[in-house]
Amino acid sequence: MKEKGRFLKKYRGNECLNCGVPLDIIDRYCHNCGQLNTTKKLSFRDFFDEFFASIFSYDSRLRHTMIALLFNPGKISKDFVEGKRVKYANPFRFYLSVSIIFFIINGLFIDFDKFTSNIGKDAKVGKEALNEIEKSFVANDSIKEKISSQISETNGISESDKEIIKNAILATDSIPFSAFGKKEPKEVIYYTQAQIDSISFFSRPFKLWKMYDDYYEKTKETLTFKALADLKHDETRINKYVYKRVKKTNDLNDNYGRELLEFIFNKLPFIIFFFLPFFALAIWFLYIRRTFTYMEHMVFTFHTQTMFFILIGLAILVNQIAGTTTVTGIAILIFLFYLYKAMRKFYNQGRLKTIVKFMLVNVLFFILAGIGSAFTIAGSVFIF
Ligand SMILES: [Zn+2]
Repeated sequence: MKEKGRFLKKYRGNECLNCGVPLDIIDRYCHNCGQLNTTKKLSFRDFFDEFFASIFSYDSRLRHTMIALLFNPGKISKDFVEGKRVKYANPFRFYLSVSIIFFIINGLFIDFDKFTSNIGKDAKVGKEALNEIEKSFVANDSIKEKISSQISETNGISESDKEIIKNAILATDSIPFSAFGKKEPKEVIYYTQAQIDSISFFSRPFKLWKMYDDYYEKTKETLTFKALADLKHDETRINKYVYKRVKKTNDLNDNYGRELLEFIFNKLPFIIFFFLPFFALAIWFLYIRRTFTYMEHMVFTFHTQTMFFILIGLAILVNQIAGTTTVTGIAILIFLFYLYKAMRKFYNQGRLKTIVKFMLVNVLFFILAGIGSAFTIAGSVFIF
């Protein structure tokens, strides 16, 4: 290829046409600006050949990168750091491309799953739903009456009421997030506004949650102001906020846990992405006595992370085709083995030292991913 067309020796000049630097007949390219040393006029044939050659060279770079990354753990990072870079794709750019593909696969998989489960749900809903709605309408009024009579009974705080409230507060001191588990069939105490005001500031949201959750479940009252009026509660900011949260959580209830998981899984590449610099920093500390620079640890991190996405992405595809979920576990095991091999090759240390550092790396990764997920969950519960 190189000795064809414009590349032929007979077309070489003694001066670069681009920058004017004197050239020799043996110079294939200008040593100053890199332009091809040729005086041949442009022809369609040359243009065509070179176009395909450039595609092929990109292709071969991709091929080298994939083969080294997949079958020779740590080699690509080692080569790259040692200066053998031209035959490989840029680690950061390659990482970005792979995560985009991972995103697409991940998104497709989750949407597809949701789509099928929704169809199943829609099919079930039908006659049954109508009956349910009718029943709940009848039940609605009687429950509301019962609750309001209960409230008027407990109106005004006597000594015995205070005792009841105290016990109730002690009894209901569990976490109110019904979304994370089955509800206990405990009797829920309905407080009056005066009683609510006497509850300490910190436990108030939890008491409100329990009461409103129960009320919403029984009455399905979607209008916040109406629910508060029925309960004879003031429209305070906290009352309104808790009732709205209860509504939202109940609407998601059936799928909440799964949706939250999906949400986190969807955000995982982002979470990992933002923690990569910290992760590289952690490895840097682990290998503090080695002469690697931070950026060299970063290259290693990019490569192993890319491998992680490739394996998990493949696992998702295989899971989807085979209709199982076990392949993800296998992929994670393969990755762990891969990571160990890569660390051994790249950092070139003995088996024992590498195993210890491998464990530490995993602990650090879980801590960082845990912190990232916690932030995501905290954000999603209140914003979702
Ligand atoms: Zn030049």
